[in-house]
Amino acid sequence: MTEDVRPRFDDPVDPPPSGTPWTVLRLLRWSTQYLDAKGVEGGRLDVEHLLADTLGVGRLDLYTQFERPLQPEELSAFRPRLLERARHRPLQYILGRASFREIELQVDERVLVPRPETEELVGAVLSRVREWGRDDLVALDLGTGSGAIALSLLVEGPFSRVWATDSSADALEVAEANAASLDLSRRVTFARGDLFQPLPDELRADVLVSNPPYISPGELASLQPEVRLHEPEEALVAPGDGLAILERIVDGAGEVLMPGGLLALEVGAGQAPAVVERLEEARRWGTPVVLRDLGHHERIVLATLERERDPAGSPRGTN
Ligand code: SAM
Ligand code: GLN
Repeated sequence: MTEDVRPRFDDPVDPPPSGTPWTVLRLLRWSTQYLDAKGVEGGRLDVEHLLADTLGVGRLDLYTQFERPLQPEELSAFRPRLLERARHRPLQYILGRASFREIELQVDERVLVPRPETEELVGAVLSRVREWGRDDLVALDLGTGSGAIALSLLVEGPFSRVWATDSSADALEVAEANAASLDLSRRVTFARGDLFQPLPDELRADVLVSNPPYISPGELASLQPEVRLHEPEEALVAPGDGLAILERIVDGAGEVLMPGGLLALEVGAGQAPAVVERLEEARRWGTPVVLRDLGHHERIVLATLERERDPAGSPRGTN
């Protein structure tokens, strides 16, 4: 342990009083205790990411450098970043990047940090569309944020073009930068506005995927400080019981999807039944499928638009 280090929480990189230098291992241990004391979850792993990034090495390389003494300038570069994490700023904002499936995305306070649940949403879409055996699909991503969904679909899936909207001009700046650094700008169209509103009237997509805001205003106060204090409220909160935006997407989806097209939505814990019911009431969707996330919450709702309707308006086919 760090018995020769007396942490001063107001100055986390004070040199050890014994005069021995800060080594990688000593700093990792001390900083982990510091974050624990500040009530920050994920301490040791986050500290490893921050220190490795500051030193310009891979995280696992730290394990072969435990006794490396740290230079004063390395300590002063690390210190403010540790303090930011102690103030519950999400690790990904401090690093300026987040990994999402196969890609790395630039992120900051203008966008939601992409979540593992959303990686699962993209996975569910990819496994469905691969069954179609086509390679020229058009997708639509509503509330694209960092562009995580839109860009992953282009990187991994059989898509020729993705349309992505967001009400936040700030978020779209981040998404556009991400598309450019992945060399995907020519295959994605970003448009600012409310849900479907900025899309051309004639647009028909094979897939509509969205991870919209779904937290109710009342729930916001109960979220972790990382989310509540640092992520954009516009990315998290939907009016009423948190379902308002999901419902508007369900209601509009039939107009922008091709017959047979796939709707894929991420939903909040406990919201899947209401979303399924709304789809069933519209009487133009095949039986919705609900998938659970790794935390076992019902998280993803998938439905396919009926291929055709008879003149009386009752749907035919059951896919
Ligand atoms: N798709 C990204 C992801 O999965 O990481 C971001 C999802 S975040 C939960 C929701 C996004 O929807 C935010 O970027 C927010 O700005 C955007 N948004 C909120 N209300 C919207 C609206 N009415 N129309 C379009 N976008 C909206
Ligand atoms: N999954 C995020 C959270 O629980 C919320 C994302 C969203 O509202 N779509 O913090």
